[in-house]
Amino acid sequence: MVENIIIDVVGSFADGKTTLVRALTNESTLRHSEEKKRGITIRLGYAHFVLYKCKKCGYLSRKQQCETCGSASELFRKVSIIDSPGHKTLMTIMLSGAALVSGAILVIAANQKCPQPQTEEHLNALRIIGIKNLVVAQTKVDIVSPQRAKENYQEIKKFLSDSGFDNVPIIPVFSTANVNIVELIQEIGKFPLENSVAKKAPVMLAVRSFDANRPGTAIKELVGGILGGALKEGELSSGDEIEIYPGIQVKNGWQPLKSKVIDMHSEFGKESKVSKGLTVGLQTALDPALTRRDNLAGSLIVSVKNRPQLKPRISFEYSPLEKQEKNLFKRSIQKNEVVLLNILAGKALATVTAVSGNKVVAALSNSVLPYYVGDNAIISRKLDNVWTLAGSGKIYD
Ligand code: ZN
Repeated sequence: MVENIIIDVVGSFADGKTTLVRALTNESTLRHSEEKKRGITIRLGYAHFVLYKCKKCGYLSRKQQCETCGSASELFRKVSIIDSPGHKTLMTIMLSGAALVSGAILVIAANQKCPQPQTEEHLNALRIIGIKNLVVAQTKVDIVSPQRAKENYQEIKKFLSDSGFDNVPIIPVFSTANVNIVELIQEIGKFPLENSVAKKAPVMLAVRSFDANRPGTAIKELVGGILGGALKEGELSSGDEIEIYPGIQVKNGWQPLKSKVIDMHSEFGKESKVSKGLTVGLQTALDPALTRRDNLAGSLIVSVKNRPQLKPRISFEYSPLEKQEKNLFKRSIQKNEVVLLNILAGKALATVTAVSGNKVVAALSNSVLPYYVGDNAIISRKLDNVWTLAGSGKIYD
């Protein structure tokens, strides 16, 4: 069975992330422009590739012929890469995709001492969003001495171990010369994927929404609003009835939108059925004016009988970021403190109304966040006036 997986490549431009992604993928710009023309495909990420598994020796290649023994290989995994830019605002992007991502490549450059503050921040973020499938790409080994590359390797190893990621493989790569990229690919192929339970009702996170019609399109040629994102669980098929939460704001609150899946496209082409691990653009029967300019980004797309909670207060069991050596926050979460909550694809400010042990109740200020009991809330707190990742919380009410 072919598996789909979304991975996050975390690191900065300076660490050589862009070059690495280019080495991993063989992106066809031609295809990209065709997709643009269609206007349906949503590019949540910016790159993708396909993995084939050798029928004889099991080696993974990006070609249909095994790069080790030359035998025929079969389609094994479709990999989509989500971009997480390496600066402060990365968090919003990274967090809104958190529930969709099954693994990550952490990029660490050999020409700097490890860990840099930013690398620490990246690893903390990966821990908070619960990423267990991780591989480190040690980049820039080509511009340092072999001695320095080895030292840096040991620094990375210690850093990972100190951070509770003991068994994470470290692959030194030289992206522009394509050295060890296949080794990195073997590790991505090893990421164990939970078999998404097909019987579960679909929950899709919309991270983008738009109107694909050009101005002046004839009415009978108009296509419905597009929702872009990926499924967290379950499956969606063309023709499925869907509901979109929280929907649109009406006088006394929010009204979910009802619609239907007309057509679906992933980065790999037209799809008739999608499940977790694939970024997908859904063409719906919605009035395209509703989806314009990311109006419905942050929404949940669900099946009719699987309504999420929409409550003004959210209760969760808070776990602060562990192993915080610097102990960033001087005080634990306080009553009346304003926190930033990221839940599924949405985010909102909330005021803490009660704290008892690790149980926290927070009241949403001016918005709604659809969720299911058991979902994870990611909590940021103000630190020197900057929203800083502080921990996560399992929602119990
Ligand atoms: Zn082989």
